Amino acid sequence: MLNLKHTICPSCSTGCGITLISNNKELLGTYPYKRHEINEGKNCKNGRYCFTKYSFNKIDEPSIVNNGKLNESDFKSIIEQFIEDIKNVEPEQFGILCSGNSTNEELDLIKKFSENYGNKLFLYENGFVNLDKTATSYDDINNSKTILIIGDLYDENPLVARRVIMAKENGAKVICADNENKNTTSINSDKYIQFDSVSEFLDSLDEEILDELNEDAIIIFNKVDNEENCQKISEIGLKTNAKILPIYKKCNSKGALNKIDPINLNELKEELKNIEVLLIVNENPLDYITEDDLNSIKKIVTISYFKNDIVNKSDYVIPGKPWAFKEGSYTNSVNTNQNFKIAVPDIVNENLSEIEILMKISEKLDIDL
Ligand code: SF4
Repeated sequence: MLNLKHTICPSCSTGCGITLISNNKELLGTYPYKRHEINEGKNCKNGRYCFTKYSFNKIDEPSIVNNGKLNESDFKSIIEQFIEDIKNVEPEQFGILCSGNSTNEELDLIKKFSENYGNKLFLYENGFVNLDKTATSYDDINNSKTILIIGDLYDENPLVARRVIMAKENGAKVICADNENKNTTSINSDKYIQFDSVSEFLDSLDEEILDELNEDAIIIFNKVDNEENCQKISEIGLKTNAKILPIYKKCNSKGALNKIDPINLNELKEELKNIEVLLIVNENPLDYITEDDLNSIKKIVTISYFKNDIVNKSDYVIPGKPWAFKEGSYTNSVNTNQNFKIAVPDIVNENLSEIEILMKISEKLDIDL
């Protein structure tokens, strides 16, 4: 029998609703969530196929990794070895790398664990930081008369771009800036500025554009070079009264940034030199650092439900539960908390959830959570 359940799309930080279709054996597909207030019955390609990420390349068993090959083991042996590894180093030589791929509830637990044990906790969100005054509704886009977009919104966050199209139909002027020669957003904008870097664009923002920014304008950005860019955009917003809307990279980047101060890339690389044991929770740091940056770490344990580069580089891997198999919440780019429940109740997934894994580790380390 087919099972249709509403949930939140995990493919970007917009927070669209989707309906997952499954039978009692597997995830079959998606269907737009018709009444969802953010996407109003539309989903983009990344949303429609979000379930494939969790169906292909999945990891079913806790495994020991040897030269990129996964050899099935069992949870008890891996946890025992991991606990021994942690106990053999000082708390500050043990690090946890988390990200906006985790739910708010998982991040709360990771944070509490780290505070109680005294280990290092790292969050890197692609140069994004938590800014104070950002737009709290996508309706702010519809109501704007001038929209400045930094990055390719149409390709990366199509359901936010849909709001731009609606505003444009109501007469809004759209200015796009990006480093591509041409992108989907630039083609659909009134003015396009090609830059070498976001930093260079912000440093040389011309008066003509600044004059367009006022209380009826919004700056939407899904691309930054670094944390300073975020601060600079925030300052431009304050100076001109334009609203600002960062569109973060991961489904719960905003939730993660609300809880944990992010580290910048250079600091992260430096900090990793002092780490002996690293636990990576649903993140692939090889998207932004190199294998060399991890070379001094003696043990890497990764919680991941699918194979990726960092799993191959790890010593052990423990599969967690994909979002469709657990409940929790994500906070989207307009800071709305979105709860979701188990979306595939008829499919058996025997993996422990990330929360159960962390609870088991904390019990062994006598950490009171
Ligand atoms: S815009 Fe983002 S959240 Fe919405 S359907 Fe596409 S990938 Fe999913």
